Amino acid sequence: MSPNTFSDTNPERIFALLPKLTQKNKDLITHACEFAKMAHEGQLRNSGEPYYNHVFATGVNLAILKMDTDTIAAGIMHDVLEDTKVTEEEMTKEFGEHITKLVQGVTKLGKLRYSGMERHVESLRKFFIAMADDIRVVIIKLCDRLHNIQTLQYVKPEKQKRIALETIELHARLADRLGMGRLKAELEDAAFPFVYPEEYKKTVELFNSLNPISEESTEIVVKKLEDELNIFDVHIERIDSRIKHLYSLWQKLKRYKMDSTKIYDVVALRIIVPQIADCYQALGVIHGLYRPVPGRFKDYIAVPKPNGYQSLHTTIFSGDGDTLEIQIRTKEMHQEAEYGIASHLGYKEVGKNVSEQELKKKISWTKDLLEWQKDVEHHKDFLSNLKTDFFQNRVFVFTPKGDVVDLPEGSSAIDFAYSIHSKIGDHISGAKINGKLVPLETTLKNRDVIEIEVKESASPKRKWIDMARTTIAKRKIRQYIKENGGLIDKFLTR
Ligand code: MN
Repeated sequence: MSPNTFSDTNPERIFALLPKLTQKNKDLITHACEFAKMAHEGQLRNSGEPYYNHVFATGVNLAILKMDTDTIAAGIMHDVLEDTKVTEEEMTKEFGEHITKLVQGVTKLGKLRYSGMERHVESLRKFFIAMADDIRVVIIKLCDRLHNIQTLQYVKPEKQKRIALETIELHARLADRLGMGRLKAELEDAAFPFVYPEEYKKTVELFNSLNPISEESTEIVVKKLEDELNIFDVHIERIDSRIKHLYSLWQKLKRYKMDSTKIYDVVALRIIVPQIADCYQALGVIHGLYRPVPGRFKDYIAVPKPNGYQSLHTTIFSGDGDTLEIQIRTKEMHQEAEYGIASHLGYKEVGKNVSEQELKKKISWTKDLLEWQKDVEHHKDFLSNLKTDFFQNRVFVFTPKGDVVDLPEGSSAIDFAYSIHSKIGDHISGAKINGKLVPLETTLKNRDVIEIEVKESASPKRKWIDMARTTIAKRKIRQYIKENGGLIDKFLTR
């Protein structure tokens, strides 16, 4: 997203990224720059650069995400309240309440009095609270972290690993969950060598030895595709190529026991088209032109990934035994894949802005999370529950009406029922998957259509606790049993 050095701190750099800024917007950003520069006067980064370079870089990162000017201004001043003599009152007087509140939010996220596991859990908690409050605070923090991790070589070695690990475990995962693919990739790749130096070296070596399809043959494919799509009158915006980022390559290698012959997408072509229909048309043309590798086609448009990612993926034999992954998506899907939630928050002229309500829906899971984390007394539980519910691989299943429900892998019809409503969960009498009656503990698979049969007289059984996967279902079952004569139930099931 951004280079490591920010010797050029002219606000024009930010303006250049946001061509539609008004003069008023520009004045605000310039004002924030001057204010932060003055406040941090005399402070230096570990690298020896002026401290101001760091906060300006944070502002640039936010501008790359096309955030609104209030958020960019707050990003430029994100360390002012914590690290300088400037008070909240002074900032409010100069910049108003909204911007000051954002800076306060970032400041609160920054102050951590814990260490080790406790610190980790506490920072997660804070992130969720901030997220439910104003997601912009979290985005500022992620942009702040990006610059910090990209300049990690200047930090004391004993601190490097902890910061880098936290970046991978926390910040990159949050960026991923918010659909911010680019930010996630940059956070991970910057942190990777500090956390896993050996694995990093190995991955780089493997990457170099993988000998993916050459630039020349890629160009030949691009040319042929362009011509053919043209002949069939399929509209395209552009064709890009992307190289898989190192950390995600390593994750994939691990999944395949370091067998690099299983990796098909080191290089991928991206075809950006205007409309969804063009995606499928383009796919048809491509499969007519090149033989697809069996089993490699994925329709993430019909069934998006848990974080909302949409695209068609296919791998083709491009001749001479080479294979090449091709991703087809609309401009909007691309925007969403790269910037995620940020593309809905940005300044009005860019992209589409969703209503406040839609946005709330998009991040409603943060609220759910907060809701149950209140019940969790022990840090350790909080973390392990979080790891299973929040960051697990998810499966997508459907209600009979076609609504999508996403659940952690390994979920059963019981989890499905409770995720719809606890009243449904509390009265399950049977479950049908794809029209067939199945035992309640049956593991759900992607695309299953689940129908829950309810009966007023039916009620949760103790053994359901083991048949459920999600924390919420387990908790509701326990709660029901506790409230409705758990003792009797205990005797009966013995
Ligand atoms: Mn900072």
